[in-house]
Amino acid sequence: MGTPGGSTSSGKKTCRACGEEIAEAALVCHICGTPQRGPMWLYRWKDVATAIIAILALVPWIAGFFAFVIPVFEKPTPDLKPILYGCNGSKVSLGVVNSGKAYGFITAITLRPEGSKQSVALMNFDRSPLGESSVIAPDKPVSLVLQSFSSGDMSSAIEQPVCTTTTVCTFHLDLAYKDKDDKPLSAAANGTCNKAG
Ligand SMILES: [Zn+2]
Repeated sequence: MGTPGGSTSSGKKTCRACGEEIAEAALVCHICGTPQRGPMWLYRWKDVATAIIAILALVPWIAGFFAFVIPVFEKPTPDLKPILYGCNGSKVSLGVVNSGKAYGFITAITLRPEGSKQSVALMNFDRSPLGESSVIAPDKPVSLVLQSFSSGDMSSAIEQPVCTTTTVCTFHLDLAYKDKDDKPLSAAANGTCNKAG
């Protein structure tokens, strides 16, 4: 034993960490493993640095785990959107697409001409259920339910032409629907009509 880091007379030196006598040329202490050159703080903190790097390396795995687990507990919801195919003033052709993960149940489709406060009920599925055509399956973005409503075809549908005064009018289309727990949801779209006749 001698002064840590110091030299002794017989071609030996003392380890700068443990103070044991080691060979003068030794780069690493054969007893405690401490390097005899380079900054000591780097050596002292190497285990902490290794631990931090190990934890950081786990982050993607942990994130991946939650990315997999959370959707399992996440409640699937419907996501319905109305798509307008055409409108000629008294007849509206539309489809509904469901890009959600659960079934959606249409309750009503209403149309309101631009500038008008009065909505036109195209169809109310609560009062007049249309069976499977009002139930929109999930995960089928290309599966469309196409309905044509006209004043002549259905008494409960449009009772007045969409466009009455102008040749081309714009309107808002509102889709009311619900999920299987009866939670009300809605979606909207804008469209244009040409005056009939
Ligand atoms: Zn040592």
